[in-house]
Amino acid sequence: MPKKQSWIIVTDLDASLLDRHYSYEAASEAIDYLQEKEIPIVLNSSKTIHELIALANKWNWNPKPFLVGENGACLGIPMDHQAIQFISVNHNHQGYACSYDPNAYERIISLARQLRNTENYQFKGFSDLSVSELCTLTGLSEQDAELARHRYCTEPILWNDSQEALNNFLESLSKAGIRVIRGGQFIHLMETNFDKSTGMDAILSIFKTMHPNIQWETLAIGDSENDIPMLEKADCALIIPNQSNGTIALERSDFYLARDYASTGWNTELLNILNSNP
Ligand SMILES: [Mg+2]
Repeated sequence: MPKKQSWIIVTDLDASLLDRHYSYEAASEAIDYLQEKEIPIVLNSSKTIHELIALANKWNWNPKPFLVGENGACLGIPMDHQAIQFISVNHNHQGYACSYDPNAYERIISLARQLRNTENYQFKGFSDLSVSELCTLTGLSEQDAELARHRYCTEPILWNDSQEALNNFLESLSKAGIRVIRGGQFIHLMETNFDKSTGMDAILSIFKTMHPNIQWETLAIGDSENDIPMLEKADCALIIPNQSNGTIALERSDFYLARDYASTGWNTELLNILNSNP
């Protein structure tokens, strides 16, 4: 007998599910549809797990979304979900069980600091900054800066040195298994064995273990370069065009492309995909 199929929706937030005002209102119809059909939603972001938990609790969806933070390196599972049996929990926070490599952050910042000391590189990381310095640099409120500083697996740094020094720094990091993701203002340091696709796979394997009789199909949604690994790997990929940076390219050719930006495109195209692949 063929297995029953079910989707898992794995989505980026900024400029994908969320518009520039940080709202998913234009995607409410699709969110309501997913909740009604009990299709799991995974928020997969470079934000910290505490930033994601704050959003999820504010939105108050029923059931709550699964969370992947810090570019694939941290998981957040709703504590009332049976899935928490299948992860090693590092700590609980506001209704979520959080799972990550507890030594990753220390490994990254101690290597970066060691290189700064020996080579006299000029940079500052989140771990060097006070909350008020971070507020000044980023424009975040004190409360949001506090959440953004709560990191487990990635360190954003602000580079204040030459391009040549940066190249040397990155080469030394790369030899030690640390790669960089360039954000707008910051360069994010993280271990090479994580990206948004590894976070997606971690959640998928939990669902496969919980429900072995279901054929789980992942549908990944994103707009930026750091979404590419999950968009390439998912069973189905939906690209949201980005108003400022244009539309990312994939190697696969069987992807869907939304016609509108952000939550509006997310809503229309996701409902189209679900309705044509029930
Ligand atoms: Mg995005």
